[in-house]
Amino acid sequence: MYPNLEKLLLSGPVVTDGAWGTQLQSRGLPVGACPDAWNLSHPEAVEAVARAYIEAGSQIILTNTFGANRSILVKHDLADRVAEINRAGVEISRRAAGTRAKVFASMGPSGAMLMMGEVSEDDLRAGFSEQARAMADAGADAIVIETMTDPAEARLAVAAAKETGLPVVACMTFDSGAKLDRTMMGTTPEQAAEQLLEAGADIIGSNCGQGIAGFVEISRRLHSASGRAVWVKANAGLPEMRDGNTHYAQTAEQFAAYIPQLVAAGAGFVGGCCGTSPEFIQAVCKKLRSA
Ligand SMILES: [Zn+2]
Repeated sequence: MYPNLEKLLLSGPVVTDGAWGTQLQSRGLPVGACPDAWNLSHPEAVEAVARAYIEAGSQIILTNTFGANRSILVKHDLADRVAEINRAGVEISRRAAGTRAKVFASMGPSGAMLMMGEVSEDDLRAGFSEQARAMADAGADAIVIETMTDPAEARLAVAAAKETGLPVVACMTFDSGAKLDRTMMGTTPEQAAEQLLEAGADIIGSNCGQGIAGFVEISRRLHSASGRAVWVKANAGLPEMRDGNTHYAQTAEQFAAYIPQLVAAGAGFVGGCCGTSPEFIQAVCKKLRSA
């Protein structure tokens, strides 16, 4: 593991941030619009989200670049602005963080299925390299690969991110199988740990897909398979449909109540995914301080 990641953990579990998409929607991003494009068109709104997480106590914030890879941006006619959108995303988070937090740049899946032949390995590799390079050039402290379901795609992303020389966190989403302990492709935490570490990930973890209760066992398994502190970003419970909109019913306090168990299971970096907000991060910080 990189010395700076080790150093971050010296004073205990590190608090990351919560969801960005829903925060941008509450600031006017239309459902279905490209959130990443807001780095160029509405930088002040993106920065307000970043600032809200810093104020809530995040020691690491991510960037509004989850979908800023060529294969997604091309669908929004933004293929010629990949580098620019990623650069702006890192710069916005950096401005909000100042010296108070680290900026870990977010890299999500391509949205195209390798297994179905929707994309080639070469194109995936090139797309992830392009994004990772832009994020590193803009001064990111690390790269976080999130919401991966296909280990083959995750490995390509990790390898591309590693080429920048930055520390790499790699996360998969476990939301399938009877015990919700497999990715959509059937990958177990142990298989994920082996493949992600072999590809060069410094930290492994899991995000999205299910509520925080299910992350305790997943963290335990990722920790025992890797021997390293685990990165965890859980959803605020399971989504419910209300009036055609997705709602997450869990409160910040209910979410934070699981933090001690999660840390005991090996989580070293804790934050939230879908349905979480700065209020959740505040509750997590409070829980850790009182532990
Ligand atoms: Zn999520």
